[in-house]
Amino acid sequence: MPLIHGLSGTVIRCFKKVENAADWMTGAAGPVFVFMCWSLILSGGFIYFDVVVRSLSPLSFFLLLPLLILVPINLYGQYYLVTHVPPGYPAPKASGNDKSISWLLSNPKSIWAGERWGFRRRGRTLTGASTGESGSSGIWEGAGRRVRRCRKCDGPKPERTHHCSVCKRCVLQMDHHCPWINACVGIHNQRHFVLFMAWLSLACTTVAATGYHQFLSTFDYHAEWPSITPKLGFTLIYVLCLAIGFAVSVLMTWHLYMVSYGETSIESHDNAYLASKAKKEGLIYLNPYDLGRRRNLQLFFNIGPSGYPPSSLLLPLIIPPASNGWSFPRRPIPSHPPTKPVNLHAPELAEGLIARANGLGLGLGLDHGDDHVSPTGGHAEDGMGGYVMGDEEGLTDDEEGGGGWMDLGDPQYRADDDR
Ligand SMILES: [Zn+2]
Ligand SMILES: [Zn+2]
Repeated sequence: MPLIHGLSGTVIRCFKKVENAADWMTGAAGPVFVFMCWSLILSGGFIYFDVVVRSLSPLSFFLLLPLLILVPINLYGQYYLVTHVPPGYPAPKASGNDKSISWLLSNPKSIWAGERWGFRRRGRTLTGASTGESGSSGIWEGAGRRVRRCRKCDGPKPERTHHCSVCKRCVLQMDHHCPWINACVGIHNQRHFVLFMAWLSLACTTVAATGYHQFLSTFDYHAEWPSITPKLGFTLIYVLCLAIGFAVSVLMTWHLYMVSYGETSIESHDNAYLASKAKKEGLIYLNPYDLGRRRNLQLFFNIGPSGYPPSSLLLPLIIPPASNGWSFPRRPIPSHPPTKPVNLHAPELAEGLIARANGLGLGLGLDHGDDHVSPTGGHAEDGMGGYVMGDEEGLTDDEEGGGGWMDLGDPQYRADDDR
């Protein structure tokens, strides 16, 4: 027995070593990926203007003009922002200096600020606040409350926060660690991440659709070629555009699909698992953050009734997230059994939640009490439909059990980007 015990310990340690090496490699390769990405989008843009735009007729040039202006501005702007805006952390870095770019976030005079260009928020930050002015103190409204503690970095771990083993710290509403941006995708840069993918898809589609004739003529040795770019260069970029455009469009659609269901990449795994577990028990699983498709999308992009105008999607601007990342609006348990067992989306909830958000504050999702938490993920049944709602037990932990709980009275744990 001791032999098996010792052996399994060695195997586990080996796996941990391999895992750590993989994380280190992902981190070390990050700058290379970012360099590659910049090279591709910059050379792609240059080659497209040199080969395709040069030979457009005046009419097609005029018709394409909005795209020729908006696509490069957003493609380069959003990529710059997604690589520079930090994903959002629940606490300052434990050791070493925290490379801060607060000038990007808190300065409304920055050229990246939506306010500078006349985009104003119609509501206020959606937090779990139940007390008047949100964020005016700069300290999280939940100060004094208990929040989970991260086992790896020992810092606070609010709901939807995960510890990134590449960044070596906790990230608010973490989606995933992306080597292409050499950072995590979290609450503050997820909007830039999805919008970058959207503009990249549009850019590739535009190149594919309008560069088709030039692509064909690269195979004709007698065709005129007035561009600086060699034919081979254009062929290469064109084929890359088709491949990347296809892959990124699929990824972006998948991301938007998850967003519309109110879940992050990490949560989509959790939710699928919890849903199948609930089904076996004859219960219906509800994602607590699913407020109906329309509202989920509005909150993600922070547009709509309580957010910024939808036209803010057309410019590379820093738009603060709808929530401060410490707590999120949650859906209530439906008061009636579902008419269709599959369709658990609740668009009808959206209106009510908007009303509550604009009223006395959401006051949702802050019940950190232990009393209703059961080991299977909090059975919050209403006795009518047999629903079960996910909660922190089921959704927040990436490694069974957290590092316990901690008090948030300490002002160092402020939501620094909260306004
Ligand atoms: Zn952590
Ligand atoms: Zn990371």
